[in-house]
Amino acid sequence: MSTQPDSREGLERDVEAALADPATSAPVLQALLGGLYDGYRERGAMMARLMRIADQYQLAERERGQTFAQRYERQLRQLEKIVRISDQYQHMLRELNNELQRTASHDLLTGLYNRRYLFDRLTAEQAKAARGQDSFAVAMADIDFFKQINDRFGHDVGDAALCHVASVMAGPLREYDLCGRWGGEEFLLLFPGGDMAAAERAIVRIREQLRAEPFVHDGESCTLTLSFGCTAYREGETITETLKRVDEALYRAKSTGRDRLERV
Ligand code: GH3
Ligand code: MG
Ligand code: MG
Repeated sequence: MSTQPDSREGLERDVEAALADPATSAPVLQALLGGLYDGYRERGAMMARLMRIADQYQLAERERGQTFAQRYERQLRQLEKIVRISDQYQHMLRELNNELQRTASHDLLTGLYNRRYLFDRLTAEQAKAARGQDSFAVAMADIDFFKQINDRFGHDVGDAALCHVASVMAGPLREYDLCGRWGGEEFLLLFPGGDMAAAERAIVRIREQLRAEPFVHDGESCTLTLSFGCTAYREGETITETLKRVDEALYRAKSTGRDRLERV
């Protein structure tokens, strides 16, 4: 009979043999069963340890998984926030840039092109004409007796009247014609590719429109009129020379009664 508890199979055999032998005494059986029981307990403890380790491992894995998912979520949210801020920033920059470009080329009060932009366009048209391409016509318009509007209603109403004239003037023009505020209550019209006839047709329409749409303030209606000088660009001359000629024509329109067009 082997009583070595380190060999479980041997121990089981000894227990079976002892149980089969009627001569086996109770203490011997007790010792053998005790060894067997210790072996089972050891195994049980080992199994429990292994299960604990497996559980801990699973828990650690789950925690690691959760932490990663949470970290990922957090980073995603941060990224989305950064993208949103960056979008807003870019939108703001674009708006600012548009605004800057607009202020550089447009008159703040009337929204028409400003003198600087008009001068650039005149220079470009002159360069085109010098290359033998299309020529152009220019007209200058000045509101008649505008000072009376300011004197009668005040400067703010004068501003509103200026805006009214500006919007009426821009209406009857062709898509590629330009209308801008040259200064004060003076406007410049540029007709690219156009001759004097094209300019005159536009001016007739503007004058008709201005008569049809009087400026109204406080229920009081004021028909505003414009005097025009108009000329076609002459090959070889500078823009200053063209503008001087158109100014002289406007002066003539004023001195010969106003609310009229003078060509030169
Ligand atoms: P004319 O028929 O000879 O052109 O007479 P006018 O009264 O229009 O001409 P004048 O040059 O004597 O007066 C122009 C007035 O336009 C004087 C000026 O105060 C006014 N003016 C110029 N710019 C502005 C502006 O931006 N807003 C207002 N409200 N008035 C302006
Ligand atoms: Mg005037
Ligand atoms: Mg004037």
